[in-house]
Amino acid sequence: PPTSESTFIENLQQQYENIDTEAINSFADLPLSPKTLKGLKECGYTKPTEIQKETIKLSLTGKDILGAAQTGSGKTLAFLIPILERLFCKQWTSFDGVGALVITPTRELAYQIFEELRRVGEHHEFSAGLIIGGKDLKFERNRMDQCNIVICTPGRLLQHMDENPLFDCVNMEILVLDEADRCLDLGFEQTMNAIIANLPAKRQTMLFSATQTKSVRDLARLSLKDPSYISVHEHS
Ligand code: ADP
Ligand code: MG
Repeated sequence: PPTSESTFIENLQQQYENIDTEAINSFADLPLSPKTLKGLKECGYTKPTEIQKETIKLSLTGKDILGAAQTGSGKTLAFLIPILERLFCKQWTSFDGVGALVITPTRELAYQIFEELRRVGEHHEFSAGLIIGGKDLKFERNRMDQCNIVICTPGRLLQHMDENPLFDCVNMEILVLDEADRCLDLGFEQTMNAIIANLPAKRQTMLFSATQTKSVRDLARLSLKDPSYISVHEHS
């Protein structure tokens, strides 16, 4: 017989198809888990931004996303909330390994994303890891195998993939590239291609940047399946 949690999850998922972004005024209007809603509330987040509404609506059902919205528009939560929700619905546990990988171009951005995840995701039981170098590789390596959500920079991630035979992404479900255009600008393109070659083909991929550039589309072609393009220009 289904557990009450699996029944709850089924009910939640049945609402995904019917999200009307026009009618969403607060996070509580979205079909999100109580754990995520509590985390958002405690962080003082009440109303989703445009990019958050559009991305949450489309990504909860597993679609690939190519999202563009200006700096400061709230792209971090636009991908962290779907990560938490997708892993929650899959009832992900520590035994399932890495479920989501977030790649961002700089250590500072990785650290900010990690901190936001810790705050908003506080009531979930997932373990999160920050893989940015600066710590010794062995220390990171031992931690990494137990992480459900990994936030990393491209170079350090590839180093782990190359040097750590135990590093295992076979179960990985969600790949996020934050500031995808900057990853390319900074000369990470080959590193990114090598990383993507190491990841399971069957996954959800979400790319975010401030502008939709040609090079982001190139990368999209490498890794996204029939993506939904979300472009938000907020006027004040
Ligand atoms: P971007 O990645 O698009 O540049 P961030 O995700 O870094 O934007 O968010 C910019 C700022 O807006 C952060 O300080 C964040 O805490 C805040 N923020 C994000 N979403 C919301 C929201 N729904 N309500 C209020 N503030 C938000
Ligand atoms: Mg950002």
